[in-house]
Amino acid sequence: MKHLHLGLAWLLLFATRSEAQSVAAIATEVDAVYPQSEGLYLDLHRNPELSFHEEKTAAKLAAGLRGLGYTVTTGVGHTGVVGILKNGDGPVVMLRTELDALPVEEKTGLPYASTVRTKDDNGVDVGVMHACGHDVHMSSWMGTARIMASTRARWRGTLMLIGQPAEEGGGGARAMLADGLFTRFPRPDYAVAVHDDARDPAGIIGYHAGAILSNANTVKITIYGRGGHGARPESTVDPIVIAARTVLALQTIVSREISPFDPAVVTVGSIHGGTKANIIPSEVNLELTVRSLTDAVREHLLSAIHRIVNAEAAAAGAPREPRVEVTDGGYALVNDPAMTQRVAVALVRELGPEKVQDRPPEMVSEDFSEFQRLGVPTLMLRIGAVERTKYDAAMKSGAALPSLHSALFAPDHEPTMKAAIAAEVITLRELMPANAGITSK
Ligand SMILES: [Zn+2]
Ligand SMILES: [Zn+2]
Repeated sequence: MKHLHLGLAWLLLFATRSEAQSVAAIATEVDAVYPQSEGLYLDLHRNPELSFHEEKTAAKLAAGLRGLGYTVTTGVGHTGVVGILKNGDGPVVMLRTELDALPVEEKTGLPYASTVRTKDDNGVDVGVMHACGHDVHMSSWMGTARIMASTRARWRGTLMLIGQPAEEGGGGARAMLADGLFTRFPRPDYAVAVHDDARDPAGIIGYHAGAILSNANTVKITIYGRGGHGARPESTVDPIVIAARTVLALQTIVSREISPFDPAVVTVGSIHGGTKANIIPSEVNLELTVRSLTDAVREHLLSAIHRIVNAEAAAAGAPREPRVEVTDGGYALVNDPAMTQRVAVALVRELGPEKVQDRPPEMVSEDFSEFQRLGVPTLMLRIGAVERTKYDAAMKSGAALPSLHSALFAPDHEPTMKAAIAAEVITLRELMPANAGITSK
């Protein structure tokens, strides 16, 4: 027993030591590139561009990568950027950032807040803001590009950095794939991304094996009735009453048909019908968002919506079947379990368990899943972005923190970006080890 204790003590001492040394080493590397990344961050934050209009943003990233020795291609999927750095035999690893900002008028009051206004694709005048933190991702990605280019002895393989347009519902991942991302360039063995997280304190790195973000579908429904005078309901079929019953019946899909262990959401976010108190309209329009984590639950939700919508209309004697249109939404993002485990062990070893935590999934959606649907093992890490004092105050008071996409979202950019760069570099070196192919026996 005594020997065992001594042995354990030595092991722990050794582990703690090497951990402390690793932390110092990666932190030093990150500190060295941070000033340039912060300069890029402030520039990108002040100059956000909407989906598929990221021309200046893409040009900044392309110029940065070219300066570091990457082979750069622009215009991939409209405004996408691909930078390749070959460094001997080894796996191809893709690291993705998004380029686009949102039509949100910034209200943070920060000295570097965006004041940009533009016309959106419908010609509407909108404010523009990096309210999802894609500016954090881009400037961290550039810091990682810099470290990887200057430490080639520490990894082997092909590093593929992509700047993807139009993540915000615009189909940017699909556009890059359709433009030959996996045929004109090496097909990756692994794909990696980080996304900032408005639920966690700045610098916390979140991982989770399996589904982390949800399937998302929009369902548009038109319920048809027979319009007429509001005082003569007997001569009409009232679509407002059908719609009201339908909205309530839809609530039973998740509560009565889906296992409590399978996350699912059916939200009726929009309902429109009628013009005046004394007129029964001839149709009502509904719009739903439908979320789930698995293909099976997604299919169940969508078929139950069809069944209920048709049955309620039939029960009311509607003159025709409702029109139900399901838009091709995003797929759940599933972190490859083996890859997640491998990277999580490396992150804990280098940064310590207090900074690297298993974090629960979120029912939001991301088109990074498009790469995984093509069979590439993928991993998205989450990086906490909330200023520590604001986080602690919110936990104490129970007040809600501004979410991603909020006009008030203000990431604590220094610790967030430093954690993102460290996480990316550690992940890439783990997936592309310098000693790959050398077997020690
Ligand atoms: Zn977003
Ligand atoms: Zn985002």
